[in-house]
Amino acid sequence: MPLTDPELISIVERRRIVKKICRRCGAINPPTATKCRRCKSRNLRLRKRLGGKK
Ligand SMILES: [Zn+2]
Repeated sequence: MPLTDPELISIVERRRIVKKICRRCGAINPPTATKCRRCKSRNLRLRKRLGGKK
């Protein structure tokens, strides 16, 4: 079943775009994370869609 509902697509995209990246090991964590799931570092940064314009 292909994704055709635009509302659903926007939700999926938002979830995919907003991530937290560990500055120490580069692991991708969920946006709700306060600590890195790999190295337990709290040095996380938020990433919102790099590369901007499409
Ligand atoms: Zn880490």
